[in-house]
Amino acid sequence: MHLFDVNQMAGFFVNSFKFVAIFATVCVALELMFPAYRYSFASYVRGVRNWIIRLGFAAVVWHVYAVALEWLGVKPLLTVNFGTLFHSDNAIISAGFGVLSGVLVAIAADFFRYWMHRAQHAIPFLWRMHATHHSIRELTAWNCAHHLSEPLIYAFFVAMPLALIRFESGVVPTVALTLIAFQVHLSHSSTRIHLGLLRYIVGDGKFHRIHHSIEARHRGRNFGTFTTLWDTIFRTAYWPTKDEWPEVGLASQSEPITVRDYLMFPFDQSRWRKATVGSGVRN
Ligand SMILES: [Zn+2]
Ligand SMILES: [Zn+2]
Repeated sequence: MHLFDVNQMAGFFVNSFKFVAIFATVCVALELMFPAYRYSFASYVRGVRNWIIRLGFAAVVWHVYAVALEWLGVKPLLTVNFGTLFHSDNAIISAGFGVLSGVLVAIAADFFRYWMHRAQHAIPFLWRMHATHHSIRELTAWNCAHHLSEPLIYAFFVAMPLALIRFESGVVPTVALTLIAFQVHLSHSSTRIHLGLLRYIVGDGKFHRIHHSIEARHRGRNFGTFTTLWDTIFRTAYWPTKDEWPEVGLASQSEPITVRDYLMFPFDQSRWRKATVGSGVRN
């Protein structure tokens, strides 16, 4: 693998954008049919634009990451073989095991993501970048992109530990990635549709909206992305009541509108001078 393999990077971009476009659009259909909030058309356009920029940069990061792993000869320390753990000759049961394995991998990956997310709220340098995502006022399945720097932080906190564990079974990475990708959009969607009792395992928009809430009483809650289990275990879960759909965003920061503002959000001194008066790190 070459460091500047443009075809490979373009492949990463097209594949990831395909996932985002399908899942975000499915969730937008739910937002239109069953809205908890209705937001401006401009916010959807902004969301699509930011995702394209973010995935373009992510394609470069993940390509360089894959080249670096190959150069360094990183080998997994532990192999989890779902093929031998769950096995059936029946095609339907076998497909069920595939999904179950995918869910287990997604839950395991979310353990690292959970602690990365706690760090993003606790360390001022990481918070400035993460705050780009939290500043969004018109949060929807399309308008939910993180700052460009997110894949760099994800590579360090999540992908590196996971590179040391190999999950063997053809279907697992695909199912796990599909579930995680869908979850990203569902959890930011402004639809009223939620997962009911399944919420005690899998996070949905109602649960994650609390994490984005502008209200002080919701701060430091619901860090999980795919699963709510780590929030339950580490006592950061907040279960919203039936009609609890708070406004989202940061009281001290406006949502970035232009491309420049989106890219420069963490580094814009005028934002942070203003914001440090009485606010500081949000926990
Ligand atoms: Zn957060
Ligand atoms: Zn979020």
